[in-house]
Amino acid sequence: MKFDVVKLTKDLVSYNSESLRTNVPVTEHVASVMKKIGFQVEQLAYDDVNGVPKLCLVGKLGKGRGGLTLMSHDDVVPAKKEEGWVGDPYTVRTSKGKLYGRGVCDMKGPLAATLCAAARYKAKDLSSAPLFIIVTADEEIQARGAWEVTKRSRLFEEAAGGYGLICEPTLLKVVYAHKGSLGLRVTSKGRAAHTSTLKGTNANLAMIPFLAEMSKINDLVLSSKRYRNEEFNPPHSEWSIGINDNNVATNISPVTSVCTVNHRPMPGIDVNPLIERARAKAKAQGLKIEIFKPGNGLYTSPDASIVQTALKMTGTRKAGTVAYGTDGLAFSTKMKSLVVLGPGNIAQAHTVDEWVEIDQLKKGVDLYARFIDHVCVKGQA
Ligand SMILES: [Zn+2]
Repeated sequence: MKFDVVKLTKDLVSYNSESLRTNVPVTEHVASVMKKIGFQVEQLAYDDVNGVPKLCLVGKLGKGRGGLTLMSHDDVVPAKKEEGWVGDPYTVRTSKGKLYGRGVCDMKGPLAATLCAAARYKAKDLSSAPLFIIVTADEEIQARGAWEVTKRSRLFEEAAGGYGLICEPTLLKVVYAHKGSLGLRVTSKGRAAHTSTLKGTNANLAMIPFLAEMSKINDLVLSSKRYRNEEFNPPHSEWSIGINDNNVATNISPVTSVCTVNHRPMPGIDVNPLIERARAKAKAQGLKIEIFKPGNGLYTSPDASIVQTALKMTGTRKAGTVAYGTDGLAFSTKMKSLVVLGPGNIAQAHTVDEWVEIDQLKKGVDLYARFIDHVCVKGQA
């Protein structure tokens, strides 16, 4: 069966699946394409924190365990024409060898490439190992969909011992590591009153010592060898501190003060001591603390066979690292042979007039097809 990667990308982009909206219609479209190719499809539905229905898919073509898994997400970051888009963000525009539209690069184009590569094979061709395709929701929101797949999917269990390609845009270069993700939200509650009365409680007062502690942690993660990793550029991550008291007038005591922290831990680094330090200080100050831990970084040894095979397949010599996170935050807890490898340039992701080169998508299809041939047909490592 033949699918055209440009046509399929256009079809997928036409569904507005911004992360706050449902991704069910576009995912059902993908499921129907997978079933046409011959995949058995496992559907994993859930409601997100806002009660919006979401759907993830794990498809399997062929028999056995392990093999090759191609992973994508089908949610996108928001886009509005008023932001300066030339056309409607959800109607793909073609110009000079490029496709323009929300998600063409991140990452409905790469997803379409995986489907088109799979469509070149029938289940009976894959005599050595199975092919899996995973599609997640909410990648842009702490990889929630990938966690659902990692925890609940029966087919992902079967796939986990094999190779995984996270098909996010890397310009078809091999990426073996990315940083993790950590967030804190700390809230101080006061009482509003006119400042002339001395009857209010200024929420910022309890927050100030906590902020001083956060500043010390920032100094630590930026200077200590323990939190440094030379494989990344830059080799440190900041303890990025946000402060907000939403105060409407200077003569009213601030009633709520919020501190947020964002940190991208290096792979393999235990950040629990930092979390505990923040927790202890919050407790001492009587502040509420919430911790968001979407996941650890991704790290597959550059010597691992998946990395070496991917270098061979792409005809490149060296694998690299990236600063952004992927669904690998979740998948890497069960699947150990993982790289990020996909068509398009991450620099175009999340931009106005997001674009991808058609040539990249076509090369992506060919690359994934070669990978399927290598792992699932020929049974090579
Ligand atoms: Zn993405």
